[in-house]
Amino acid sequence: MSNLETDPREIRCAADGGGEELLEGRSVPLGGPRAMAVSRTLPGVRRRLIGAWCFADAYGPEVTRMRVPPHPHTGLQTVSWLLAGRVLHRDSLGSLREVRPGQLNLMTAGRGISHSEESPHETLHGVQLWVALPGTDRRTAPAFEHHAALPELTGDGFSATVFMGALGGAVSPATVFSPLVGAQAAVDGTAELPLDPAFEHGLLLLDGEVEPLRAGPLRYLPPGRDRIRLSGRGRVLLIGGEPFGEEIVMWWNFVGRDHDEIVAFREEWASGDGFGVVEGFGGPPLPAPALPGTRLRPRGRVRE
Ligand code: MN
Repeated sequence: MSNLETDPREIRCAADGGGEELLEGRSVPLGGPRAMAVSRTLPGVRRRLIGAWCFADAYGPEVTRMRVPPHPHTGLQTVSWLLAGRVLHRDSLGSLREVRPGQLNLMTAGRGISHSEESPHETLHGVQLWVALPGTDRRTAPAFEHHAALPELTGDGFSATVFMGALGGAVSPATVFSPLVGAQAAVDGTAELPLDPAFEHGLLLLDGEVEPLRAGPLRYLPPGRDRIRLSGRGRVLLIGGEPFGEEIVMWWNFVGRDHDEIVAFREEWASGDGFGVVEGFGGPPLPAPALPGTRLRPRGRVRE
């Protein structure tokens, strides 16, 4: 989706030290006849990636109808995770799969795929996340996976569903291309969530009240932490991974490595070649927006 950034901010949490930061979400309209607004915390103005996670949109809960016409992706995985509602995925491989709360829809774009997403008019609550593929795998064959059985990690005061990567010995069956974690933790009381000290992490409050989080911003934790103490009652999204060492260009729905590659992806989509056809969606595909007047620059995980 294209960016219409409003008042983006990133605040370093000097009070608790340790290099924590708050990545404030910005409200982005997804467009369409019944536009829904999402809160986008990644990429931030300064911090572009957390591990290989390069995009984080949170939406709802609200009664709405999601309708995202066919559009292309390259160089990334899309991770669809719901707390309420259902979203129907169609892609150019012929996949047709509804995702419900507690299940994972994972699409590996690799060298190129197109897909659509739609939901009935009902309460919808979830996150849409992207994972950047490392250079060695970014041209891999496109693929789609649905996982309805995901491992749980339980401890004092929490139970966590691990949908991507690993957390405290619980390993998701989903295909990943770099060391990372994606999990939803239900907190009830006081919990110490185990963290991999080699990872940087981000925490987002999904519902309820859980200290020290607050609704809205993504709380960034730098590498070196082996746990986070959470207390209250609510659900929390945890993403993290080994700091991503490569510079990438993210534009619209593409992840590439330089300006010319993005231009080529855009032209392929505009010409109708290279991204296949999504069958069964009742409407035209999304046109690519115009490129900016300046050359797109590759960026690393932190923009200085
Ligand atoms: Mn998409």
